[in-house]
Amino acid sequence: MSGLKLLLVRLADSFKQEKEGLIMFAEKLQCIACKSEQDLKMHNKCPVCGGILEVKYRFDKVLAEETLRNQEVCNLPGIWKFLAMLPLVSTKYIVSLGEGNTPVLGSKSLGPELGLRRLFFKLESLNPSGSFKDRGISVAISKAKELGVTHVVVASTGNASASTAAYAARAGMKCVVCVPENTSRAKVSQAMAHGARIVLVRGDFSKSYEIALQASEKLGWANTSTTFLNPYNMEGNKTVAYELWQEFHGNVPDVIVIPVGAGPLLAGVAKGFEELRELGMTSTVPRLVGVQAEECSPIFDAFDKGLEKVSQWERPFSTLAAGVGDPLKGYSDDGTFTLDAIKRTHGTVVTLDEEEIRFSTEEMARLEGLFIEPTSSISAGAIRKLKESCFISEHDLVVSLLTGHGLKHFLPMNQKQVVISDFKEFELALL
Ligand SMILES: [Zn+2]
Repeated sequence: MSGLKLLLVRLADSFKQEKEGLIMFAEKLQCIACKSEQDLKMHNKCPVCGGILEVKYRFDKVLAEETLRNQEVCNLPGIWKFLAMLPLVSTKYIVSLGEGNTPVLGSKSLGPELGLRRLFFKLESLNPSGSFKDRGISVAISKAKELGVTHVVVASTGNASASTAAYAARAGMKCVVCVPENTSRAKVSQAMAHGARIVLVRGDFSKSYEIALQASEKLGWANTSTTFLNPYNMEGNKTVAYELWQEFHGNVPDVIVIPVGAGPLLAGVAKGFEELRELGMTSTVPRLVGVQAEECSPIFDAFDKGLEKVSQWERPFSTLAAGVGDPLKGYSDDGTFTLDAIKRTHGTVVTLDEEEIRFSTEEMARLEGLFIEPTSSISAGAIRKLKESCFISEHDLVVSLLTGHGLKHFLPMNQKQVVISDFKEFELALL
């Protein structure tokens, strides 16, 4: 029987025998530090040592290859066409808003200016809630639903809270967002619109993070807080790698440029390509570039100094790229995990100062037609530095991940205003 037929039979079987888990090749959760194993239930970090948990698979190579090569094989939306490589037992628990399958556009301005003939942007900003987070949150909420969890908690003032609230609403789950007391309502208005309950927590963000962690551990709620707390989150992020493999017809990009706070997107992309290599679908893994705001750049610091471990960022900071302004207080090991992925792929880390971030945001909107939040623009802004330092060359296939939409972030623009009464004044003012 051909692989395609085999997959279709297996998928059909899964509908009849959903409890058998026939379509799932995920086997267990494994701690990256102490290697202890956990079952595929709701866990935050490793109960033995506090390390990061990863989903481990025993792939059926034939079925996995069919899933990747034949895009028609699995008639599910977006990331869920890779169901065979995700940790869900049955399709009936999928909570989807159409995430993934985001466009890849060639650069019209930056690439030609720098002499890069193969510079592409992947528009993660076009995911349903406006950011890449939807990939991971879709998987995390689906898994929670499969496990019978009814509540989800998230500590985030940004994209993770908006995404979690949207998927919780879709799933019929209760969503609680924990944020520091002084957080502006505007920052969580998207989550509020989806019916999430906003809880203001006295103290800085780490206190909100701690409360969310306790809620998940003591009440059995799912936790989609930033970083690597939910092992299913990274599984959604890895689908970026699968999509790029398909987009370039099995050719793997030479370099992928990714904004990083703690870095779950970069770590997920690394995992995706490494799984493709394990399956024999590629012999190489792209060099992954992490980009941080100079104002808060703990991973860059460790990389630059040749250190093994990332330390939490102690200095006060303020950055336009708020989505990656993560001091990693209390979870600097997450940064080390991302640093390891960068080193493993022979990548590098770049920082942008505030002026460069603003310039890149405006440049992307004006010259490429892409309205992205400043956090995303650092991924494009880094390209110029990477070319200048010869990390990338004109022949490289380079992909910059644009992680969040410009509508997420109000950036004041300076333009002289013109007020007119008739067409004559219109001509005088503009022509
Ligand atoms: Zn452990």
